Amino acid sequence: MKLAVVGTGYVGLVAGVGFADSGNDVICVDKDPSKIDMLLRGEIPIYEPGLDTRLARNRQEGRLVFTTDTAAAVRRSEVIFIAVGTPPGEDGSADLRHVLAVARDIAAAMDGYRVVVNKSTVPVGTAERVAAEIAGLTSQPVDVVSNPEFLKEGAAISDFMMPDRVVIGASSERARRIMGELYAPFVRTGNPILFMDNRSAEMTKYAANAMLATRISFMNEVANLCDLAGADVHKVRLGMGADPRIGNKFLFPGAGYGGSCFPKDVQALLRTATEHGLELQVLNAVHAVNEHQKGLLARKVVAHFGEDLAGLTFAMWGLAFKPNTDDMREAPSIVLVRELTARGARVAASDPVAMGVARGMLPAGVSFHENPYDALEGADALLVVTEWNRFRNPDFDRIRTALRHPVIFDGRNLYEPDRMRELGFTYFTVGRGTVRP
Ligand code: NAD
Repeated sequence: MKLAVVGTGYVGLVAGVGFADSGNDVICVDKDPSKIDMLLRGEIPIYEPGLDTRLARNRQEGRLVFTTDTAAAVRRSEVIFIAVGTPPGEDGSADLRHVLAVARDIAAAMDGYRVVVNKSTVPVGTAERVAAEIAGLTSQPVDVVSNPEFLKEGAAISDFMMPDRVVIGASSERARRIMGELYAPFVRTGNPILFMDNRSAEMTKYAANAMLATRISFMNEVANLCDLAGADVHKVRLGMGADPRIGNKFLFPGAGYGGSCFPKDVQALLRTATEHGLELQVLNAVHAVNEHQKGLLARKVVAHFGEDLAGLTFAMWGLAFKPNTDDMREAPSIVLVRELTARGARVAASDPVAMGVARGMLPAGVSFHENPYDALEGADALLVVTEWNRFRNPDFDRIRTALRHPVIFDGRNLYEPDRMRELGFTYFTVGRGTVRP
């Protein structure tokens, strides 16, 4: 099939590569010429494991091309995916400016029937808005399909190639058939393609992310209570997760959720509800709990070192909002760095891939270190913020020797409290108590 994917960010690039990988001819479009130039040079503007080799192979085999010319892409494609950003507007609603701009670009270039697919996360009713925008500019026939994306950054390739489910909102049989054919190679193991109306498909994406965010905020509250009540959230999590009605996934407490999806999608769903005169009380609480949780590590630091952190340096392992990505959008590390530096502290940060992005986002007073052990030299304590694999089993002797005080604030519960006691650390966790040597 001939496809265009407009927007070559985390979603569009992975989708473009994934569709090309299953034999389609894909043209990826972005309005940002610097991104397209990079891609044409064989460089990748984002960090996503496994993307580079697949991208190179599909380019080499002639199934994947890049351009800034949306009109040309539309003319030669049967199906056009819109995968541009939908950032939060001032009132929290999803800003559809980019989606609607692409819809107009598509309409202006259409010379026959097209399927236009919203892959961006968009509020209920957006398919109708996109259809109206196109109908206002052309009389060519179009089907607008809602096909939300569920991939996780860091595991985006396997999520895209082997999705748990594919959700397709479509109102015509023709569009359903085309989308069914396109996705058939991705669901050969029997995972479902769920066909539904556009509005339900749009709502499914928000409800799914809201549920995941709810699990995180819920477990963060349980963890905070465990700390006070003398229970160990690690054991509690295992005990809860063994119940198949609950399941063992996504029950890890931490320093708050971030990223480009949960925070904005929770806000957008709250906004949609408000527009319908409804207050989503659970989701309001999910957001409030998360905002509070992002300050947890800083509160623990202040409780230990005092309000005034001037003259102190904190090593920080991990900046990205989660491992295996360079995405810093809404990362809890940003809040933590701001709170520490506002109290006069310096931060020595190390992250395997996010430092380039982070440099432009973090305040002065932060130094960046390729080698995580360099960040520790002369620091007063270590803060573990992102659970990169390389931080899971570090050289604790080296940590203790490099730090001025053997103190670790662990926002991801990576280490065993008993072992940390034996090793002589003061060790702060999220819901597993505080260990003192
Ligand atoms: P992104 O910001 O990484 O990429 C968006 C790209 O679209 C940018 O490269 C931008 O230059 C381009 N763009 C914007 N306007 C354009 C236009 N008019 N013409 C051509 N290109 C244009 O965004 P992302 O993280 O890939 O997210 C895209 C959408 O997918 C969002 O709605 C997001 O909520 C959703 N989503 C993201 C994820 C994720 O993990 N990042 C997962 C599922 C869904």
